[in-house]
Amino acid sequence: MRDTASGPRVLLRRLRELMQEPMEPQDRLDRIVHDIAANMVAEVCSLYVLRSDSVLELYATEGLNKNAVHLAQLRLGQGLVGTIAASARPLNLSNAQEHPAFAYLPETGEEIYHSFLGVPVLRAGRTLGVLVVQNKTMRNYREDEVEALETTAMVIAEMIATGDLSRLNRTGVELDLRRPVSFTGSAFNDGIGLGHVVLHEPRIVVTNLFNEDSEEEVRRLETSLNSLRLSIDDMLSRRDVAFEGEHREVLEAYRMFANDRGWVRRLEEAIRNGLTAEAAVEKVQSDMRARMIHMTDPYLRERMSDFDDLANRLLRQLMGRGPEDIAQSLPKDAIIVARSMGAAELLDYPREKLRGLVLEDGAATSHVVIVARAMGIPVVGQMKGAVSMAENGDPVIVDGEEGAIHLRPQPDLETAYAEKVRFRARRQELYRELRDKPSETRDGVGIDLLINAGLSVDLPHLADSGAAGIGLFRTELQFMVASAFPRAEAQERLYRDVLEAAHGKPVTFRTIDIGGDKVLPYFKDAEQEENPALGWRAIRLTLDRPGLLKTQIRALLKAAGGRELKLMLPMVTELSEIAQAREIIDKEVRHLSRFAHHLPTSLKLGAMLEVPSLLFQLDELMKAVDFVSVGSNDLFQFVMAVDRGNTRLADRFDPLCAPFLRALKTIADAGRRNRTPVTLCGELAGKPISAMALAGIGFRSISMSPASIGPVKAMLRELPLKELEAFFADNLDAPAAKVPMRALLQAFADDRGIPV
Ligand code: PEP
Ligand code: MG
Repeated sequence: MRDTASGPRVLLRRLRELMQEPMEPQDRLDRIVHDIAANMVAEVCSLYVLRSDSVLELYATEGLNKNAVHLAQLRLGQGLVGTIAASARPLNLSNAQEHPAFAYLPETGEEIYHSFLGVPVLRAGRTLGVLVVQNKTMRNYREDEVEALETTAMVIAEMIATGDLSRLNRTGVELDLRRPVSFTGSAFNDGIGLGHVVLHEPRIVVTNLFNEDSEEEVRRLETSLNSLRLSIDDMLSRRDVAFEGEHREVLEAYRMFANDRGWVRRLEEAIRNGLTAEAAVEKVQSDMRARMIHMTDPYLRERMSDFDDLANRLLRQLMGRGPEDIAQSLPKDAIIVARSMGAAELLDYPREKLRGLVLEDGAATSHVVIVARAMGIPVVGQMKGAVSMAENGDPVIVDGEEGAIHLRPQPDLETAYAEKVRFRARRQELYRELRDKPSETRDGVGIDLLINAGLSVDLPHLADSGAAGIGLFRTELQFMVASAFPRAEAQERLYRDVLEAAHGKPVTFRTIDIGGDKVLPYFKDAEQEENPALGWRAIRLTLDRPGLLKTQIRALLKAAGGRELKLMLPMVTELSEIAQAREIIDKEVRHLSRFAHHLPTSLKLGAMLEVPSLLFQLDELMKAVDFVSVGSNDLFQFVMAVDRGNTRLADRFDPLCAPFLRALKTIADAGRRNRTPVTLCGELAGKPISAMALAGIGFRSISMSPASIGPVKAMLRELPLKELEAFFADNLDAPAAKVPMRALLQAFADDRGIPV
């Protein structure tokens, strides 16, 4: 190689000029390989591009037979080029023919070349092609030459990614980057969403690749690295609950990486080779990701994604970009794609632009999913790999019916889905027609259908759905989306708005249910717990912090002046907790009446049945309260000992199994026996087949997400309840049948044309 210090720089400058000149893509590629060969004093330089059918096609060459361009092909893993693409690692060989993977392609005439250096063309950790130089003499390419070729490969990656090469494809052949892919996972909220990908934590795409002044770029990198390190130290020094436990571990890892000498050295090297600081971060990260992609150790993989996050932070520092800009530039049909996400983060996105949510993790009863359901957007989860395969702006279809996504769909699939959307719109029309019809079974038994809500965005749903009222108002959502405890006035205002929007329909407010997976980042008293679901949460927490409960109760009492107030307590374990809460409520009532406040006309106090201990004192419970509401999400979690947020176990146990249905039936029976109204407000109520089962075992009131009201009502109006009761009389207590209960219920519905 000639001038080793300036070699890569000269080459990059040349490439920049070539990229800016107007010319046909094939001519540009031909010039690029020619210039690389000249710069590196190589007799051959060739570019292979990976197609969506896993074939590497020769796109340009200097030195090999030009007639082989677009004809010479290798499969992924085949030959040296295929090996580089499959492993995402460079190969540097002084005698290529001796390598066991060597495969001779006669059309190229490459037999006379001995030394071989090939590097993968990488972008965001994905291999898009392979760039090769060859020489006749047996030589080993130096480390700085490998580095230079890798940097050049980055420029080519950009050409591929921006679609510059797609004009060279033969019809029917696609490049790998634009390949349509489908994923299947779990359906968390029904609906079909057509739109464009918005990565929740976007990988920042660097388009400004070449620097003008390396030393200035190194200084820019240093400044940004310093502020990054300071911000991490600052987060670590705060004794904030949000930064404890796992968060703390992640931050410690960030700190370690941000001070990693090897990383900083590689970044500086890339800059000295002519890249901008941003492009250097992207390059080093891309190399590292590609090397780690085959790792199976979950711990190391996790650390890799920490490193990715850190690199993204550094890029943001360098580009001076904040998360606000991202929300601003949201397309009007955004489909959010995230590894995982908190409920509050979802609410940062403007509702009117959201068409769907795709999660790599998550479970149907996790809170971000509950919030998404309240917002009425289709949600799918357990979509492993979706984040790395998607690019911001890619067209995507979310199928919340089947639990699938289609990334970069083919036109015929898009047309089929557009038809499906029209079909669903017609069905919605049918549900709207049902809205004012009575909610009763075919044999005339009335079942109250109520909605679950928690934010003011939910309120219009009450009228839209024709529900009989709000069966569960999750007051903690207001706390979860705030950055500090909402003031008493803000609480009172929300409760008043809710009651006003209800126009006299009943509303059941649940006192704040925080703890467990509902974390308030600003709540300093909470500690990291070994088993948060079984920990200091809900009524346990509010009885220990009565100030919190008193403020809320006072806000509720004031907001409900002149109306009925229905209050319920979450996660009751012992009846004494109800008595203690009642004392606090009575005291607040006395206080307000002393100051001549307008009080509610009546006050009903209920308990949620979520903890199995209450199953063994049902009669006492029914007598201690004015109503009971079954929280089937938590009750199922505790009865089956299955974490409701654990993705791995999400589909393992079925709530429609005989033991759980028997438990639910004992609750409905006890309510009837004691004349205490019973309702059920977990996610179970919202699926037509499980709502049917609930009616069959005696529930006459159920509360669900607003979008479920139509399908559940349509089911009920076709349901011969007497027949279903007879079915349960025969089957519920029978010895375990070979056929699962769900299948029996499905057959019951199918035989009678009940839409479930
Ligand atoms: C439940 O546990 O079923 C319930 C309705 O409460 P949440 O989902 O808010 O915990
Ligand atoms: Mg619960």
